[in-house]
Amino acid sequence: MKIAIIGGGIAGLTCAARLGQLGISDVTVFDTGKHAVGGRCSSRIVNINGQLSVFDHCVQYFTASDPRFKKILSYLIRDGAVTQWKGPVGHLQRGRFQADSQFTQAYVGVNGMRSVPESLAKFCKVQRPAWVSTIQFDYHLKKWTVDKWGVYDFVVIAHNGKCAAKLTENAGAPEIHRLCHTRFASRVNPKDSRMTLCSLFVLMVAFERSLKLPYEGAHVADSNISWIANNSAKLKGTSSSSGILPGNKLECWTIISSKNLAEQNKVPQEHIPQNVEKRISGIMLESFAEATGLKGKLPVVHFQKLQLWGAAVPLNTLATGSECVFDAQRQIGICSDWLVSPCVQGAAVSGLALAEAIGSCIKGNKSSTSLQPLFKEESQSNPIGAFP
Ligand SMILES: Cc1cc2nc3c(=O)[nH]c(=O)nc-3n(C[C@H](O)[C@H](O)[C@H](O)COP(=O)(O)OP(=O)(O)OC[C@H]3O[C@@H](n4cnc5c(N)ncnc54)[C@H](O)[C@@H]3O)c2cc1C
Repeated sequence: MKIAIIGGGIAGLTCAARLGQLGISDVTVFDTGKHAVGGRCSSRIVNINGQLSVFDHCVQYFTASDPRFKKILSYLIRDGAVTQWKGPVGHLQRGRFQADSQFTQAYVGVNGMRSVPESLAKFCKVQRPAWVSTIQFDYHLKKWTVDKWGVYDFVVIAHNGKCAAKLTENAGAPEIHRLCHTRFASRVNPKDSRMTLCSLFVLMVAFERSLKLPYEGAHVADSNISWIANNSAKLKGTSSSSGILPGNKLECWTIISSKNLAEQNKVPQEHIPQNVEKRISGIMLESFAEATGLKGKLPVVHFQKLQLWGAAVPLNTLATGSECVFDAQRQIGICSDWLVSPCVQGAAVSGLALAEAIGSCIKGNKSSTSLQPLFKEESQSNPIGAFP
């Protein structure tokens, strides 16, 4: 059995690894990543004046409550890819910090979040950088043609947004295509039966010296920013064996915008016009200074870079009771965070569920999940996802 997984984020990699455990080994993960796999779970390494610095520019930390994900977490810790983050982390509102009493079991990647997908990818055959632009099902042969990559028995869509909608448009699986329709907004419209994704700006900033703040991360309320994290402090507590951090005197922060700021200033994420980059970076730095009580006191900035995640975090998730989507007749499935919960755990659980569904189908159980586009609003998530 040959399986093509399109998307090498947490969901696709977990699905591939579980299929391997089930004895299905001819599995290829296709991913667009130029530097690494991981999708929205990755880090940027930047050379600033000859010093290498790491920025977690999407996932900041994650929690584990699902027993299946806890097993994956145990493996990641044993593999040296993940460690606990002790913080302090909390909430900032109009300059006042309150530590998060729930922040007892939070995890981060050692030397940055990219170590999580790297560790999972050890079990997978990964083809990257590879952009899969067409898939086509032959109903008589029961086979999928995957772009120029050959013929497969099963296809897994392990991503979301416009890419998934475009890829499935003429694939011969209309119900799967309907499920991939996406709406981009900062709020869910209960009358709209599509998955809704928000956008977020991320500003990476390296200050000349430490800000000496008594916390390492904070969710920010009532502001143009929603989250700040001191990467230097967070990652110092993990490991410096890669040689990235020692001797680095800079203090590197990740600042994430509010959903509204991104919605109101959306531009193509591949090319942020210079004037927009300057204006949004300025707004976010000013909001950072206000939130931290450092207005007029921020040290010299040695590096700053703005990134836009156009398809950042799902605001609603599938409400059919399934953790993945699987069409046994057409031998195609979907796994991703938007089917379970907008977070690392949600993506991993979805990948596991789809691997089980494919494994069971190969053994003769031809049942499909619901293919109805029914979504429920994520009540517990904040702008950067859920922490179940
Ligand atoms: C700014 C930000 C902060 C976040 N913070 C947190 C946090 O602190 N904690 C938390 O738990 N979660 C957080 N999240 C959410 C978390 O990132 C996601 O829930 C999770 O990473 C989703 O994984 P996934 O595998 O479903 O999708 P993705 O990570 O999006 O993976 C999909 C992959 O498929 C690839 N792909 C797409 N189309 C194609 C194609 N046609 N061919 C080949 N490859 C393709 C993409 O390039 C990508 O690599 C955050 C998200 C953002 C954007």
